[in-house]
Amino acid sequence: MTIAAATTDAGGDLRRPLMLIDGDWVASGTGRTLSVENPAKRKPIAEVPRADADDVDRAVKAAAAAFPKWSKVAPRDRGRMLLRIADALEARTEELARLIALETGNALRTQARGEAALSGDIFRYFGGLASELKGETIPLGEQVLSYTRREPLGVVGAIVPWNAPVMLSVLKIAPAVCAGNCIVLKAAEDAPLGVLLLAEVCREFLPKGVVNVITGIGPECGEPLARHPLVRKLSFTGSTGVGKLVMSAAAERIVPVSLELGGKSPSIVYPDANEDWAVDGVIASMRFTRQSQSCTAGSRLFLHESIFDSFLQKLVDKTSKLKLGDPMDEATDIGSIINEKQFKCVCGYVDEGLRSPDATLLMGGLPPQDGPLSEGYFAMPTIFAQASNDWRLAQEEIFGPVLVAIRWKDEAEAIRMANDSHYGLAAYVWTHDIGRGLRTAHAIESGWVQVNQGLGQMPGHSYGGYKQSGIGREFSLEGMLDSFTQKKNVTVNLQVTGAL
Ligand code: NAD
Repeated sequence: MTIAAATTDAGGDLRRPLMLIDGDWVASGTGRTLSVENPAKRKPIAEVPRADADDVDRAVKAAAAAFPKWSKVAPRDRGRMLLRIADALEARTEELARLIALETGNALRTQARGEAALSGDIFRYFGGLASELKGETIPLGEQVLSYTRREPLGVVGAIVPWNAPVMLSVLKIAPAVCAGNCIVLKAAEDAPLGVLLLAEVCREFLPKGVVNVITGIGPECGEPLARHPLVRKLSFTGSTGVGKLVMSAAAERIVPVSLELGGKSPSIVYPDANEDWAVDGVIASMRFTRQSQSCTAGSRLFLHESIFDSFLQKLVDKTSKLKLGDPMDEATDIGSIINEKQFKCVCGYVDEGLRSPDATLLMGGLPPQDGPLSEGYFAMPTIFAQASNDWRLAQEEIFGPVLVAIRWKDEAEAIRMANDSHYGLAAYVWTHDIGRGLRTAHAIESGWVQVNQGLGQMPGHSYGGYKQSGIGREFSLEGMLDSFTQKKNVTVNLQVTGAL
């Protein structure tokens, strides 16, 4: 049964979608399955195949077999296929959005619809870039023609997390396939359903074996994928800890690796930005409406001492108005945390904050023990003030709605604290003074700094991390060229003539 057939009925029976290998919907070789839960209700909604190393081998061999033909399809034709996928995804945006909301707990209105729509946009973006896979000519003199070709790498092994499962999968599939590679993508165990729907759409328009999607647990099928000898490129999005394992697997075979990893992003507010628009921006950049389960969450808020209390008052007032509840309800702003493990982890951080004699709780705290919210993994948006930048809650990626506010006096001190992190993914600066804003943006050690806005990534961004937040860029034309092609130089001696 395909994912569409398996997911049209929204309640009742468990869905039992299969994985996509070599154009066929298949179970795992062992027949074992994995349960997928609706985190807002703590109820199982699906059983998906639990792939192991043999299934990975099947998928990688299918991708390797499809590669010689796919890599020779004219780029413009590959691009056309991606554009058809974009159209088909757009036609199914609402279905896809509802599935994402159901399995991730992300609110349909504020999050899942945007993710589904962006997924179509990303296919359209890369589809239009297919003819840009250009090489260069190198001026070595009149007697020599030296040029480069952008060639695909072969089989890409891609591994994604659950927080924006479909968009992050599209960000691997679209550039990889556009550049002429074939791909085996491992979906996250907590959120495979939207990705399987995406696979269904890709299957309609691409030859078999070009896109393969497997489901299962990290050590059981992610690791064999990372270690498979036929995989010629690894592309991983997830935690820094697992990223290190993937990088070491890549090192063993010397295959290129792109890593999009964790973050603990700073948000620096100058005194002249003590205004409502900046407060709204801080709420957006903290990704409260995605339960802050975002790698780019601006979760360390550096406020100038002269505005510390008044800015926080406005922030608490506005954040308190966000409605926490059923992700499928159109009135809901904030949905639920993804699973029990992550929920307990977030509660552990909140508990530590409550016990800390130094930090002050301004809003939120531990989740309610009864009432409708206790039925799911609902975490309260929580703000601690008077925090120190050295505190565990200010240094570790919580991946939940816990914001720490830290006081600063002078710009150099704010920048020093902002950079005092082993992460370097995103950052936010809030000020009317554009010179100061740009000076600060340039001084911050992060791959993406936004001044006076807290938006999400858009196709075309050169997006990726500094320090332990990652290596490589995938979101843009340069990302596709750098991450999914390899350059070959061909040099021809023009002095040799046919008379020889
Ligand atoms: P995770 O690292 O636990 O899992 C990510 C993926 O890796 C999953 O598919 C998982 O099954 C797989 N995996 C687990 N162990 C593995 C192993 N030993 N070998 C191979 N694969 C393995 O991360 P998560 O909890 O799913 O996601 C949250 C993390 O992802 C956060 O740290 C977040 O910051 C990060 N993230 C980063 C970006 C970015 O663009 N930089 C985007 C989204 C999420």
